[in-house]
Amino acid sequence: MQNDPDITLITPNAPIKAATHGGRAKCLQRLVRLDMPVPRTVALSFSAVRRTAAGNLPNIRLILEQFDAGSLLCVRPSSEDPDWGGPGAVLNIGMNDDHQARLSELMGAEAATRLYCRFVQAYAVHVARLDPDLFDDLPEDECEGLAETLRIYEAETEEPFPQNRGDQLAGVLQSMARAWSSTSARLLRQAKGAPAEAGLGLVVQQMIPMVGTSECGAGVLQLVDSETGLPQITGRYLSRGQGREALGAKSALYLEHDPRGPSLEDVAPEAFARLKAYAARMRQRLREEMQVEFLIENGHVHLLDGVRVQRSSRAAVRIAVRLAEDGIISREEAVLRIEPSSVNSLLHRQVAPGVRRDVLARGIAASPGAARGRVVFTSAEALASAAREEPCVLLRRETSPEDVRGMHAAVAVVTVRGGMSSHAAVIARGFGLPCIVGATSLRFESGKGPVKTADGRVLQAGDIVTVDGTSGQILAGEPRLLEAAQDDAFQVLMQWADRARDIEIRANADTPEDARLARDFKAQGVGLCRTEHMFVDPGRLTVLHQMIFTDSSENRAEVLARLLPMQREDFTQLFRIMEGKPVCIRLFDPPLHEFLPATRSGQRELAEALDLPVSDVTRRIEAMAEYNPMLGLRGVRLGVTVPEIYEMQARAIFEAALRAGEEGAPLVPDIMIPLVSAAREVELVRAHIDRVAAAVRAETGRHFAYRLGVMVETPRACLRAGEIAPLVDFLSFGTNDLTQMTYGLSRDDAGRFMSLYVQQGVYAEDPFHVLDLDGVGELLEIAATRSRAARPKITLSICGEHGGNPDSIAFCRDAGFDYVSCSPFRVPLARLAAAQFAI
Ligand code: PEP
Ligand code: MG
Repeated sequence: MQNDPDITLITPNAPIKAATHGGRAKCLQRLVRLDMPVPRTVALSFSAVRRTAAGNLPNIRLILEQFDAGSLLCVRPSSEDPDWGGPGAVLNIGMNDDHQARLSELMGAEAATRLYCRFVQAYAVHVARLDPDLFDDLPEDECEGLAETLRIYEAETEEPFPQNRGDQLAGVLQSMARAWSSTSARLLRQAKGAPAEAGLGLVVQQMIPMVGTSECGAGVLQLVDSETGLPQITGRYLSRGQGREALGAKSALYLEHDPRGPSLEDVAPEAFARLKAYAARMRQRLREEMQVEFLIENGHVHLLDGVRVQRSSRAAVRIAVRLAEDGIISREEAVLRIEPSSVNSLLHRQVAPGVRRDVLARGIAASPGAARGRVVFTSAEALASAAREEPCVLLRRETSPEDVRGMHAAVAVVTVRGGMSSHAAVIARGFGLPCIVGATSLRFESGKGPVKTADGRVLQAGDIVTVDGTSGQILAGEPRLLEAAQDDAFQVLMQWADRARDIEIRANADTPEDARLARDFKAQGVGLCRTEHMFVDPGRLTVLHQMIFTDSSENRAEVLARLLPMQREDFTQLFRIMEGKPVCIRLFDPPLHEFLPATRSGQRELAEALDLPVSDVTRRIEAMAEYNPMLGLRGVRLGVTVPEIYEMQARAIFEAALRAGEEGAPLVPDIMIPLVSAAREVELVRAHIDRVAAAVRAETGRHFAYRLGVMVETPRACLRAGEIAPLVDFLSFGTNDLTQMTYGLSRDDAGRFMSLYVQQGVYAEDPFHVLDLDGVGELLEIAATRSRAARPKITLSICGEHGGNPDSIAFCRDAGFDYVSCSPFRVPLARLAAAQFAI
């Protein structure tokens, strides 16, 4: 053994690491160290498995020498992270005609024959790659069944079934090694976050003969519920069963005493008590909730395996919190154990209770949450739909690894076939996508849809449906959805995260509803309020139109005076909802003509509303058109050329701050100027705003302060930050526009070719989703250094969509930024990710 480092008998001191032999091998060694009754096990390293896949088998004789002569063996996968999966286990290696005869005497001919028959089938499917359907219609009689199974094997492979244990083991090792390197396995594990080249180890274990007169059988047990994470002994036990088959078997027993039927606790109370104690010890010493795979042989307990309990995102949080509360792990570790992106599934929407449900079909509720979108029947359509930013529901007969990207692009997945552990269900849960499987009442009219419901309705591509993955119902149309609830364990975890965090998280919030969400998600303020979103209301839009159509400054002031109370009310609400937390309001940003109608009929209506001839309206709209509006008259350029708009907004902000400030401590609003590219722009706008502040102070006789800042969205503003900084209190990087301008890449059109660009490695990722640290990042660093040199205490932040992305948060933290601001729904994820960087 010493002379082959790739084949290691698992003993307390053997050199086994998760990084070289996989998580399962490492876990088994831990159990051995805890003196738990684990059968003899040999671990094969990643390199041994890699060589095996290439046709270079390990030393089979050396492996077999570690086990009792003639014993049966099983092989299980051991990937570095158990969550990355691996090929299924193969049991009973070593079964052959002789072994069957010997076992028949010990356990009865029927049981021995069944075992042999099952092994031949497993071998046929996994090693010889025969179609499992070949073995569907076997004779009832065990002996005839075995004879037929062997006959099929020989007929299909043109070889007799191998009788030698070493040959069988070699075949199994090779097939498992090759399965891991197949393209579909690669895609699957990549979807779970594993690197494509992740290693696989294998463990070979001696099986315990299930012969004897007392209780024998196999099962799994865990101490918590996988869905909720609450303490609850769960699992199944199958008397005379083997491996994990107990899980699906109808005749399996409950574990604890149960009114629904006999339990392991009734049948073998001592073994049950011992198992619970083992599981509790594993929780304590392995610092994790573990599922124990066990075997009872003549009343003795053996532990075959321990795996991390499978868990929903919600259960993961509760498990981590309980482990920390029990002093098993630290609070910081609990925070570190939750994958920030999984927080999203805790925030899933649900169909509002009490709404009318028009149920098209029912299936198995495979992944919780509700989502709605247009029906698509292929993954390609799902990808196309996502590229158009149209939410879609992928409806398939079943899914396969080729569908993983399509599923990722969909907002929900429905399959006609499948169960809780089908491909669709497993993948969707991993992605946190609402999913229903086994919706068997749906009938595909042709290979790729449409689909007919049980009551004769036809679902076409493009129809809107709502998938309620929590109840398993597919609903017609768009019933009202409720935002997700977050339970007590989640709140506790987030409190711990907040204690560890050292960068502020604010939210982008334009409306009172957004602000309420931001407050509920515990954002520390509003980092960006896009004021133009307050003009979508038709009443306000008309006033805005009038403002655009006035030609004199005086008339414009008169129209703006009508907008003033509306904006004042908006800001007052925002300040009140945020209860004294900082609120950063961005002055008007988009080109004005974005608000004007593009169609003839819209222009006619506008002409009516303004009491002007249509031709005047059309001419004016044409005159305002720009070739490149996003690089045209917008942002601060409006502030410089039509200062009355910013003046009105500044007045509304000051008056609202005074009003809302009456109820508590004085409010100091942040006012932000968008799209700056020159310091002089800031000087000009600052002069206007200062004048308004002075006027409001004089009119009200009250003093107030405000902070002025620049939204850095142009490369020039980054480069000239040293000149801009002395004029302002803060800089907030608008990384959406900054990315657009740095790349010279339209943020509204890039979606058309982005996936191709990423596929071909031109960009590592879509720079509008993940901050480009090399290019845009360098500009941020330059701006930070230059602005701080000019004004050391300047506040720095980002408020583009990147604000909620963990990598961008890490960047901002490293660069010493004060806060990041992201959309309200991303706030919890950002709080957690930021905490993890600080721990
Ligand atoms: C930005 O450009 O990054 C930004 C936050 O502003 P908007 O998305 O409104 O252009
Ligand atoms: Mg912008």
